[in-house]
Amino acid sequence: MMPRSVLSRCAPCMLRPLEVPFRYLFGPGPSNVPPRILAAGGRPIIGHMHSEMFGIMNDIKKGIQYAFQTSNNMTLAMSGSGHTAMECAVFNIVEPGESVLVAINGIWGERVAEIAERMGAKVHTLFKTPGGHFTNAEIEQALAKYKPVLFFLTHGESSAGLVHPMDGVGDICHKYNCLLLVDSVASLGAAPLLMDQQNIDILYTGSQKALNAPPGTAPVSFSERACHKMFNRKTKPVSYLLDMTHLSNYWGNDGKPERIYHHTGPVSGFFALRESLAILAEMGLENSWSHHTEIAEYLWKGLEDLGLKLFIKDKDLRLPSVTTIAIPEGYDWKELLAYIMKHHRIEFTGGLGPSVGMVSKSLSRRHDNAAFNYMAV
Ligand code: PMP
Repeated sequence: MMPRSVLSRCAPCMLRPLEVPFRYLFGPGPSNVPPRILAAGGRPIIGHMHSEMFGIMNDIKKGIQYAFQTSNNMTLAMSGSGHTAMECAVFNIVEPGESVLVAINGIWGERVAEIAERMGAKVHTLFKTPGGHFTNAEIEQALAKYKPVLFFLTHGESSAGLVHPMDGVGDICHKYNCLLLVDSVASLGAAPLLMDQQNIDILYTGSQKALNAPPGTAPVSFSERACHKMFNRKTKPVSYLLDMTHLSNYWGNDGKPERIYHHTGPVSGFFALRESLAILAEMGLENSWSHHTEIAEYLWKGLEDLGLKLFIKDKDLRLPSVTTIAIPEGYDWKELLAYIMKHHRIEFTGGLGPSVGMVSKSLSRRHDNAAFNYMAV
């Protein structure tokens, strides 16, 4: 007979209460979550397949359509962080052996290139050092050369603090029969982006940055062109969890009368996301953009008055939500960040991927209808 006593004791740390320090989150995400959104996330759990939950998911879809400025039916929130949406987009759109073009001017292009390579795509890259951006002529040349089915561009390159110009890019992609995938994890709600007007085929973001919700959900939307490609594949996407045929049913987007269990969505995360999208709707997108710009400009001036140099020289290319400061000569950025955290409870972060050692970062976000600015060093 099995003994009825346990064989090993739990580590003593588990018998202590949970401790979470207060931090001013001025890194590029997650951001401090306003009480109204925290309270929404703290509501009692209901079942992920209850009709009220489907109602809340329908609201989220409307909120995302507004935030993205799209009328796409195939709009939903992924159960997972920004990377989940990134993988979902690549896995569903691209089939093994197909050609993909990735613009790399920081870490996020690197990530997408790796994701596409892992699922067997032929990956081509356009490359700039962090802080650089691509002209439409450069993009067009590469599209003509590689004939990709998908082109990836980061709108808000948080590792460099750059907001990428978007005008005309979608049109060029469509001229070459290519779909445009855009990452707006760090920029949505902070810098203007109009999915339908700018002819973006797949757009995703994360909950934890300018949306001010806890991390763990990721809005995404697919155009009709994107749906046509992903629902007429010869092969199944490599991931069951991220397969859009299932997810579109779970979100009530496939026109079928019944939603069938696929996975258990993050119920609390969806409550919080709904509230954060509701706040954005109440505030209005234009107000959110201008709030971020005003606060960012205030921060930029303050930093320059202190004698610090901003990493992105051209004001029009600075991401209002993430300010990057060139590390002053003779200073160790890790020591600076540790000092600020220890003495002021403020989180700034260093560069990421190719921008490590070049910048420190700070994030600007909407918080209780006021915008703050984050920094990265
Ligand atoms: N893209 C950008 C531009 C980001 O800033 C981040 C997060 N720092 C991501 C993608 C990845 O998002 P997550 O960490 O939520 O997976």
